Amino acid sequence: MAAPSNPVQGHLPCEAAHGGWQPLSRREVIIRLVAGGAAAAGAGLAHAQAGAHVEESDETAVTLGDKHDTTKVDAAKYPKHAATQHCANCSFWQGKPDEAWAGCAMFGRKHVANAGWCQVWAKPPG
Ligand code: SF4
Repeated sequence: MAAPSNPVQGHLPCEAAHGGWQPLSRREVIIRLVAGGAAAAGAGLAHAQAGAHVEESDETAVTLGDKHDTTKVDAAKYPKHAATQHCANCSFWQGKPDEAWAGCAMFGRKHVANAGWCQVWAKPPG
């Protein structure tokens, strides 16, 4: 059987037919699309779990005055800020003290910088 000249017209490749083109049923097409979508969603979830970095331009970061470098905080705008305050010594830091980036309760799945700061900074209890 000769392969159709335009495989997009109602045909998808069939790996089992040695590179030839075989029509797929509507059910097979739907199953393949759903499987592909699930794989893409899984990849997206894995990326989110890895912790995308917060951008200083993100809406939440702007609202909270987040900076990746505590020494760059505007002292006039945030007079309660102290140079000793940074994310890794904040009660909301979810990482180890030496991690460069880690989660923060204020930013959901995104990670903040170890040396960063925002106006929600709080001394850990104890
Ligand atoms: S709440 Fe704490 S850990 Fe989170 S961004 Fe602000 S200073 Fe950093």
